[in-house]
Amino acid sequence: MSRQATNAGCSLALEAHCGVAPPGRSHDYDSSARLALRCDNGAINRHLWLDATPVDAARRALLLAAAAVPLAACSKRATEYTGGWIGAQNERGHRLRDTKSGSLPAPAVQRRVGVAIVGAGVAGLACARMLAKRGVDDVHLFDLEDAAGGNSRGHRIAGMACPLGAHYLPLPGEHATEVTQLLEELGLRRTVNGQPVYNEQHLCHSPQERLFIDGHWHDGLLPPIDALPVADRATTLAQYRRFAQLVTDASRGNAFTMPTWRSAWRAEHDVLDAQTFSQWLDSQQLTATALRWYLDYCCRDDYGGGADEVSAWAGLHYFASRHGFHAPGMTSDERDGVLTWPEGNAWIASRLAEPLQDRINTSMVVLRVQEGRGGVDVDAWNARESRVERWTAKQVVLAVPIFIAARLLESPSSALTHAASRMRYAPWMVANMHIDEALDDRPGAPLSWDNVLYGVESLGYVDAMHQSMRPYPGPTVLSSYWAWGAAPAHRQSLLQQGWFTRAARVVQELSRAHPDLPSKVRQIDLMRYGHAMSIPVPGLRSRASLRALSQVRGRVMFAHSDLSAYSVFEEAYFHGVRVARDILDGERRDRGG
Ligand SMILES: Cc1cc2nc3c(=O)[nH]c(=O)nc-3n(C[C@H](O)[C@H](O)[C@H](O)COP(=O)(O)OP(=O)(O)OC[C@H]3O[C@@H](n4cnc5c(N)ncnc54)[C@H](O)[C@@H]3O)c2cc1C
Repeated sequence: MSRQATNAGCSLALEAHCGVAPPGRSHDYDSSARLALRCDNGAINRHLWLDATPVDAARRALLLAAAAVPLAACSKRATEYTGGWIGAQNERGHRLRDTKSGSLPAPAVQRRVGVAIVGAGVAGLACARMLAKRGVDDVHLFDLEDAAGGNSRGHRIAGMACPLGAHYLPLPGEHATEVTQLLEELGLRRTVNGQPVYNEQHLCHSPQERLFIDGHWHDGLLPPIDALPVADRATTLAQYRRFAQLVTDASRGNAFTMPTWRSAWRAEHDVLDAQTFSQWLDSQQLTATALRWYLDYCCRDDYGGGADEVSAWAGLHYFASRHGFHAPGMTSDERDGVLTWPEGNAWIASRLAEPLQDRINTSMVVLRVQEGRGGVDVDAWNARESRVERWTAKQVVLAVPIFIAARLLESPSSALTHAASRMRYAPWMVANMHIDEALDDRPGAPLSWDNVLYGVESLGYVDAMHQSMRPYPGPTVLSSYWAWGAAPAHRQSLLQQGWFTRAARVVQELSRAHPDLPSKVRQIDLMRYGHAMSIPVPGLRSRASLRALSQVRGRVMFAHSDLSAYSVFEEAYFHGVRVARDILDGERRDRGG
C-alpha cells in the first residue's frame, strides 16, 4: 500500500508492511509500516517505523507526518527513530492469570531446597542477601523476567546505561537503619566524626531539578512565584508557607518515618487515611493552582496516582517522612540529597544480585504455591525449557505484589484476600530516548538531572548522562516517566496501543520544551508496567490486614513493598530484611538457641 501527501514543499510516501521489523529489532513487531519523508531538494530521505495494522498505520502515519512536517521536515533533519517494547514479559505474567487451579501438567523436574523466594525484586534480593550473609546457603530465587531487579532494572541504548524503572534513592533518614547499613557495605556512605559522609560520585550532581513553565526553565520543581499570574502570587506564596508549616507540624514525634512500620500509628493517621489528599487540602483551604499542581505531581511521581486518588496520610507522608516542603525564602530551602546512577537503582539491584547469581532462577513463572506435609510446593513454568518444575521448600517467601501472592496460594488467608481486594495498582511507562546530539534549550535554568514540564501528562524526564564527567553536552538517553492512576482503562490501552503511538506521544509532549527533539531522537525503547506499584488509596494503609501480613510467621511469609501500601526502595528493602530476620530467628528457635 502506498499513499502520498504533500505539505510545505515536502512529500510523504507511506508503505505498509505486515510482519516486518525495523533493522536490528526482532521482537514485538506483529506488523509495521514505513514512512519515507522527502523534501523537494531531495536531501532528506528518512524512514519512520510504525506498529499497527496496515490500515490504521497508514492513517496514523499521515496524521502524524502532517503534524511533524512543520516541525521537522524542513529543519536540518527529519524525524527518524526506531525502537520497541522492551523489558517486560507480559504474556508470562498472564500465564499465571490464565492458569486454572489443578490444570498444571505434572512437573518434569522436582527438587528439595531450604528457602524458596518468589520474586527477585529489591525485597526478594534483600531477603536472600541477608540469609546468605548469615550462612544460610540453600536459598533460591525465582523471577518470571529474564533478569533480577523487578522495578529496579536497567537498560542500555547506544552504549549508554539508563533506567527501566526506579532511578533514585533519597539519603536515608535515621529510621532506615537497614538501608543505611547497605549503603555503608556498598561504599556509598561512611561515618566521619559521627556525621554521615556520602560518596560524591553517586550523589546527584548539580543542577538537580528544573521546571518548564511559562516558556522558561526555572530552577527547582515548585512553581516559582514570579512565573505565576500577578493576581495569584500573594495567595500562592501564603499557601506555600502554610503547607510548609503543616508538614513541619506533622513530622514531629516520628509520626511519619521510613520505613513506615516504624512510625507509631495514631488516631489522627486514621482520620488522614480515611480521605483523599485532595479532600484534606480542600479542608485546609489550600487551593492555589500552582500548589495543587505541585502536590498532585509529587503524588503521581511517587505513588503512580494523583492527589484525588491517594490518601491524605500518603500525601503528607511523602513530605513529612523524607522530602520536606520548602517554601521560597525558608531558611532550610536546600535540596534533598539523592543518590542516583545512569542505570538508576539497577546499580544497587545488580550489586544485591551479583553474589547470588547461581541461586537466581530467571524466566521462571511461579504458578502455584501449596503447603503440604513434607514442605511447601512451588510449581513454576520454566519459560526457557518449556516445562513445569516443582521446588519443594522448607520455607517460602512471597516477594511478589500482594495481588499475585493471593493468586499463587491455594488457600489464601482472609488477611491476604482482604488486602488483595483493596489494593489498586498504577500502570506506568518509561520511555528511554536516545538523542544523538545535545538538544537546543529554551531560556532559563540549564539541563538538569530531573526535568519537568508544568501541566502536562508525563512526569518529565531524567538525563541518563547527568552523572557523567563529560565536560560538554552531547549524545544522551532521556528517560521519560508516565503514570496514570488506577483506572483500568489506562492499563488496557497501555497494553493494546502500539509502540509507535506511544512513542510519538512522548516526542510530541516533550517537543513543547524541545522543538528540535523530533529531529534528534534516534531510538525510543518503551517499558510498560501493567501493575507497577500499589497506590496508597484511602483506607489501605490503616487496614489491619496489611499489618497482619507483615506479622505472619510460618512456612510462607510475605516480603514486598506492597506491605507498606506503596512502593519505594526503602520499604522493599526493609520488608526483605525483616523476613530474613524472622527466618533466622525461627532457625535459632528450632536449634533451641
Ligand atoms: C517506573 C517506576 C519508577 C520508580 N522509581 C522509583 C525511584 O526512583 N525510587 C524508588 O525508591 N522507587 C521507585 N519505584 C518503586 C519500585 O517499585 C521500588 O523501588 C522497588 O523496586 C520495589 O521492589 P519490590 O521487590 O517490592 O517489588 P517488585 O520490583 O515488584 O518485585 C517483584 C518481583 O516479582 C516478580 N514476579 C511477579 N510475579 C511473579 C511470579 N508469578 N513468578 C515469579 N516472579 C514473579 C517480578 O518480576 C518482580 O521482579 C519505581 C517504580 C516504577 C515502576
